[in-house]
Amino acid sequence: KQAAFRTELSSLLDLMGTGKESLIFMKKRLRRLEAQWLLAARRLERKVLDSPNQKKQILVHIGFLTEESGDVFSPRVLKGGPLGEMVQWADILAALYILGHSLKITVSLKELQSYLGVPPGRGNCPLTEPLPFDLIYTDYHGMQQMKQHMGLSFRKYRCRLRVVDTFGTEPAYNHEEYATLHGYRTNWGYWNLNPKQFMTMFPHTPDNSFMGFVTDELNHTERQQVAQNKVRNMAVVYGKEAAMWKLQGKEKFLSVLHKHMEVHGTVYYETQRPPEVPPFVKNHGLLPQQDLQQLLKKAKLFIGFGFPYEGPAPLEAVANGCVFLQPRFNPPHSSLNHEFFRGKPTSREVPSQHPYMELTIGRPYVVTVDYNNTQEFETAIKAIMRSKVEPYLPYEYTSEGMLQRLHAYIQHQEYCSSTSPFSYPINGSQAPHAPSLLLINHTHLVWHQTEPPPHIWPPVTSLQVWLSEEGESCSAACWEHNLICEPSFFSLINQKQVLEQLGAPCDSTESAMSHLYPAVSQSVHECYLQREPLLFSCAGQSNKFRRLCPCRDFEPGQIALCRNCS
Ligand code: UDP
Repeated sequence: KQAAFRTELSSLLDLMGTGKESLIFMKKRLRRLEAQWLLAARRLERKVLDSPNQKKQILVHIGFLTEESGDVFSPRVLKGGPLGEMVQWADILAALYILGHSLKITVSLKELQSYLGVPPGRGNCPLTEPLPFDLIYTDYHGMQQMKQHMGLSFRKYRCRLRVVDTFGTEPAYNHEEYATLHGYRTNWGYWNLNPKQFMTMFPHTPDNSFMGFVTDELNHTERQQVAQNKVRNMAVVYGKEAAMWKLQGKEKFLSVLHKHMEVHGTVYYETQRPPEVPPFVKNHGLLPQQDLQQLLKKAKLFIGFGFPYEGPAPLEAVANGCVFLQPRFNPPHSSLNHEFFRGKPTSREVPSQHPYMELTIGRPYVVTVDYNNTQEFETAIKAIMRSKVEPYLPYEYTSEGMLQRLHAYIQHQEYCSSTSPFSYPINGSQAPHAPSLLLINHTHLVWHQTEPPPHIWPPVTSLQVWLSEEGESCSAACWEHNLICEPSFFSLINQKQVLEQLGAPCDSTESAMSHLYPAVSQSVHECYLQREPLLFSCAGQSNKFRRLCPCRDFEPGQIALCRNCS
């Protein structure tokens, strides 16, 4: 059945339940952004008129908000606690609803059990009826609860899960046996899902799907107002919890900042000013989202102190015409050297407080400097005060961008069908068709058009194959060519002939389980193919290997989708 895009959001609010502070926050956000969502829906509708929009039965189970997982977030909503996750869940609900799907929403284990059809008092048994949902959006907590309460049905139905996972899960950590054998076991990974079933807040590794969230979009009048009302010497500090201001050496750069600018903060406090916040800072206390947007419209600079990592606020600041100034991390922060990332199922190295802002948006909107270098810091402040910067928002963080992406995922991502080359562990499986690739020059291959390409998504016509340098991941190798690594194509290129066509002679070829394969050890002419499809990884890198990399193009401003294929 076709789904019709919806024309209101108010019935969604009725589906959401009441009581918790987190739900109240999410509902307020939905009301505030309703007009923006509806406008975006009308625009997207015109673009996707001819493509199918099958109506899905969807369950949304927000595990971290259930009492059974402790729900530590709800009581902190009004006290400066993390809000990014709630921003994202509110936006996911809005998008799924607007796209016309049928939704059930729960934040309680009891309700989850009744939706799944778990008979009361019979915890860990297979479901007696078929699962009534095509898709289940949840998080790590929710997935754990489902595993506990669905018995053997969990294995059968896990291909329908979509796991919202802020920082992402790389393939090496996701594969249970491999993670255990090779030291990638963490508190979170080892679920043996298709890595694309994990959906992240920012496009971290292309091994996962990029879900994202949305940011307030300014209309023409608002843009003019912003241009008129900017206060050249007004800075707002990023960090709503007093602990975020406890930073070594901050006195030095704060005093430089204060020398040039009026410093504002939005730090939560109960009765007294938090001692971490210096007296010259004008602290507004934690603001409602709407009021924060107003403050950002006036401010010239939004400045990060290194924590929190990768939240929504810097994107909101730049969307309201601020410049975001943030510290560079040298060495980069990662699960090996920083408490915050320890135990997270990713080997990502974070070179600054907000890598997406630095690497995807960049100057003049985002300035990344070494805060220990007072001169570099001061020069940056002065340049920002002089600069003229318009409000900027990448398309992928607009409501239309998020709807477009989610629409494409829902219609095309398929991890259940047994004929799909991307369904569950198929040890030693081969590519579904012998691929027909064409060498374009001595460096890379593209798809040969004369044969009908295998029916996979994204369409294989967007494929380009490159070899990485030694020590380089496929993510980095593709990025160097203005392309993005596309793990769905790995199974098509996992062949000795492809390596040889690219000029890597294989004196010997071995097929094994490794998140670094397919790859070649060039000096000794040894080639390695992947034996376990779940371990295909854009993120993997090693000094020993040049990796064989499937890359694709992307829509400008929408990394998740290749050109002409949404
Ligand atoms: N926020 C807010 N009031 C404030 C400061 C922030 O409502 O005084 C909101 C902000 O609009 C953003 C959300 O908090 O959408 C999350 O922001 P942040 O980047 O701090 O990420 P977090 O660490 O909370 O996940």
